Amino acid sequence: MIGTLFIFSAPSGAGKTSLVKALLQSTGYIGVSVSHTTRAPRPGEVDGKDYHFVSVAEFQDMVSRGAFLEHAQVFDNFYGTSQEWVESELSAGRDVILEIDWQGAQQVRHLMPDAVSVFIAPPSIAALRERLQKRGQDSEDIIERRMRDARNEMSHYGEYNYLIINDNFENTVEELRAIVIARRHRLSAQQVRHEDVLQELLNG
Ligand code: 5GP
Repeated sequence: MIGTLFIFSAPSGAGKTSLVKALLQSTGYIGVSVSHTTRAPRPGEVDGKDYHFVSVAEFQDMVSRGAFLEHAQVFDNFYGTSQEWVESELSAGRDVILEIDWQGAQQVRHLMPDAVSVFIAPPSIAALRERLQKRGQDSEDIIERRMRDARNEMSHYGEYNYLIINDNFENTVEELRAIVIARRHRLSAQQVRHEDVLQELLNG
């Protein structure tokens, strides 16, 4: 298959969403899977763009229909990745990014061993706390809970193929881009993509 499935995980507050946005602007087409979730939309979030917001009953129905490539409970809500969308993108030769937690990453690695996984970590605990506090309205209790959840997520970094420390936004985008571009140039994909060129070079 020419398309690559990329798994990006990060504790919340590590800056993953804005990094992915910048990566897409600099790296040509990559599909980003829009997950289904049972959590309520945050202000500004758009249904169908940020997430597909569904009820618990709808979510469970999708689970029982086998509609998810992976799904997990994260904090107090359910999240899942649509199998159909991901498979159709990959089989059309397009790269796909999943922004999922460590539990989903484990499931996807198991099903698709060729997936490339990247863990994005903040540069320090202080920086993470500062980013969570900057987000606004959350109370100290919620921030402490998010810090604990972040530590739990970070304890799984060793399961990933790549580790990136997000201490400088531009550098981090460049590092993510390097991973994607290198992966696109692996021999097996290039042989398919450039079959005619290779034929000509060898036999022309
Ligand atoms: P948030 O609710 O802040 O957007 O996301 C919370 C967490 O859920 C993040 O760690 C995010 O990566 C994870 N997440 C988002 N979508 C999915 C998904 O489809 N599957 C899994 N396993 N985790 C997800």
